[in-house]
Amino acid sequence: MQGTLAPCAAKASLSRGRKYAEPASLHRSEYQRDRDRIIHSTAFRRLMYKTQVFVNHEGDLYRTRLTHSLEVSQIGRTVAVALNLNEALTEAICLAHDLGHTPFGHAGQDTLNTCMREFGGFEHNLQSLRVVDELESKYAEFTGLNLMFETREGILKHCSARNARALGDVGERFLTRQQPGLEAQLANIADAIAYNNHDVDDGLRAGLLTIEQMQQQALFEIPFREVSDKYPQLDDRRLIYEVIRRMVGTVVTDLIEETARRIETAAPDSIDAVRKMPKPLVSMSDEVYAQHKSLKRFLHKHLYSHEQKLAMTHKVQAIVEALFHAYMNDVSLMPEEFSAVAENAADDVRARVVADYIAGMTDRFAISAHETIKGC
Ligand code: MG
Repeated sequence: MQGTLAPCAAKASLSRGRKYAEPASLHRSEYQRDRDRIIHSTAFRRLMYKTQVFVNHEGDLYRTRLTHSLEVSQIGRTVAVALNLNEALTEAICLAHDLGHTPFGHAGQDTLNTCMREFGGFEHNLQSLRVVDELESKYAEFTGLNLMFETREGILKHCSARNARALGDVGERFLTRQQPGLEAQLANIADAIAYNNHDVDDGLRAGLLTIEQMQQQALFEIPFREVSDKYPQLDDRRLIYEVIRRMVGTVVTDLIEETARRIETAAPDSIDAVRKMPKPLVSMSDEVYAQHKSLKRFLHKHLYSHEQKLAMTHKVQAIVEALFHAYMNDVSLMPEEFSAVAENAADDVRARVVADYIAGMTDRFAISAHETIKGC
């Protein structure tokens, strides 16, 4: 149970509210309600079979988008409680941040973006907002999940000026260069902390990274020395767990301490004061941030661009491309709910429906859909 919220935390009583007014819930706060709507969404369940880094069928122990989102949420909640920020809102944003991700991770999103170039492009972050605002249809009285403004604000991490203008309320801050609330800032960093650390674990498990290689990274090397000295007999697997546990601990503790300092100095008295700050307040210290960035660069070079990963990337790019062209040429290959909208529609509307359909697919569904269209 959460104690008193900090003055700068998001509060439902001062919220910009929901697009469609709803009576209050008897047992839950407005942000708890948002979190629950996200957990009950179809897009959330599909995260279970979507790639984080390793394609879902490559192994049962790797992170999927779902377990990634849960780890992001766990980190976000810890920091939120420590800083007296709104835990339920942080959790809601963390759980929803990847809802718009395509199958096959970044390879899928980049390919879909290329296919959509003439039709306004495709961006997974914007798609996450589209999922909660438009694509989930579960309520009789409105489309989408009708989430609170602050939850939607947090889901939309970045946005072009053109898209911001089209989006209205949640797009505004990209035009006026304002910050989002602290819970949104926190969810963004919790995402980066989660993947940096779990990708080390998955990369080592897959044999694409080695311990020796990882020792070039200060974030890994310092706890690695500490654990090896304390437990010289430890097998590699347990050693890696102990090291990664400490890595997360180092970054999270630093994030809490540095952010607490910045909040104390800036002393914003409301979420609106936070929005007017020149810079985000949720931040690691310069020293730890430099280590975190270095690890991120290292993973880009040695894991995400590993030739074994690239081979898989090429395969899945071909699948997404083939699906896009097949559905554009013949919308009746899609289920009725999509084909009915796409039929006789202008090219850009048809393309958006096709992108929505493909983006919603899980890895294995996309693979089997590809098998089906190959026969057409
Ligand atoms: Mg993420």
